[in-house]
Amino acid sequence: VQMVFQNPFASLNPRKTVEQTLGEPLAINTRLTASERADRIAHMMRIVGLRPEHAKRYPHMFSGGQRQRVAIARAMILDPQIVVADEPVSALDVSIQAQILNLFMDLQEQFRTSYVFISHNLAVVEHVADDVMVMYLGGVAELGDKATVIGRPRHPYTRSLLSATPAIFEADRRVKIRLEGELPSPLNPPSGCTFHQRCPYAIERCRQEVPQLREVDGRQVSCHRAEEVGEQDA
Ligand code: SF4
Repeated sequence: VQMVFQNPFASLNPRKTVEQTLGEPLAINTRLTASERADRIAHMMRIVGLRPEHAKRYPHMFSGGQRQRVAIARAMILDPQIVVADEPVSALDVSIQAQILNLFMDLQEQFRTSYVFISHNLAVVEHVADDVMVMYLGGVAELGDKATVIGRPRHPYTRSLLSATPAIFEADRRVKIRLEGELPSPLNPPSGCTFHQRCPYAIERCRQEVPQLREVDGRQVSCHRAEEVGEQDA
């Protein structure tokens, strides 16, 4: 399991060159010789779109997108089964975000890696995910394959998130659902459903009874009213 962090300006050691950053996992975890490690580093740099002749450079000599490519190369160099990517494009310019997302997808195909891809941006999630888990206050709101969760959301929180996602074409726009109030503290969560203070569908039962995750319409959802929510879309 490897990790790609959110901010490539903070996640790379400023005192290490790219060669050192990528070489360390190989030196610790493999029996490759120094020249084999150098070959692997050059190969990995090419795969992520960096020039191997820049291996002696330090992080401050690269742009944000290039630094994130170094961080991705560091994560992939040991051929992990799982990569946890925590908001890996949110610190980058929008123009660079698409390039890095496409790099993630190319690498997945090449390395057959699974990603746990964490994002607040549902447009990004829609682009990269196979399965989606929507979380609220540390709990699972809705879980299922992308087409089901994003196409026919059954949890009011999923619906409000999707309604806040901008769309270029009129046909893709959803009715805006504005959530009132602030996110409660996870240290002192509300009784019953933790979303009840902000949920437009809340009823008395929601204030008292914690909804369990259960199957509704081909996905897992924790909402007492999941059968009614989204019925108008069905
Ligand atoms: S259980 Fe009630 S408060 Fe919670 S999401 Fe469903 S309708 Fe809203």
